[in-house]
Amino acid sequence: MELPTEHESKRDPDCVFCSIVAGETESSQVYRDDSVIAFLTIGPVTEGHVLVCPVDHYPYLADLPDDVATEMFRVSREIAGAIRASSIRAEGINLFYADGEIAFQEVFHSHMHVFPRYEGDTFKLDADWTNQPPRSELDAVAETIRESLGK
Ligand SMILES: [Zn+2]
Repeated sequence: MELPTEHESKRDPDCVFCSIVAGETESSQVYRDDSVIAFLTIGPVTEGHVLVCPVDHYPYLADLPDDVATEMFRVSREIAGAIRASSIRAEGINLFYADGEIAFQEVFHSHMHVFPRYEGDTFKLDADWTNQPPRSELDAVAETIRESLGK
C-alpha cells in the first residue's frame, strides 16, 4: 500500500480549489510556490481580481499555519503591487478575506481576494461607518479580545 503524500492528506475531494491546485480544473494562474497558489477568479469584481490560496486545504483563517498565512499575505501584497504597475486599471487595490459564510465566504478553502479598485467600479461594503461608541465601550471590547488572545 502506498502512503498518501503530505499534500494529498490535506486535500478535500469535493473542493474546487483543491482541484485547481491539482490541475484537474482549469485556471488562469498568476503565481505558484510550494505553499501558495494564485489565480484569477471566474467571477471578478473588477478586471484583475486574483485569489491567493494555500496549496493545502484549510477551510478557515484560524486553520492556517502561521507560515502559510504569512506567505499568503506576502504573495497578496506582491500581486497587488504587480497589478498597480501593470496596464490593468487600478487606482487602488482591496485585499478582502471572507472567513465564514456570514462573512461572504463561498468556497471553504481559505483564500484572499486581491482586486483593483477605481472610480465608478461596482464594489460596495454596505455598513454604518458613522457608528462611534464611547471610549468605555471600546475599552471593554478591547479587554475581551486581549483576554481571548491570552496577552
Ligand atoms: Zn480545498
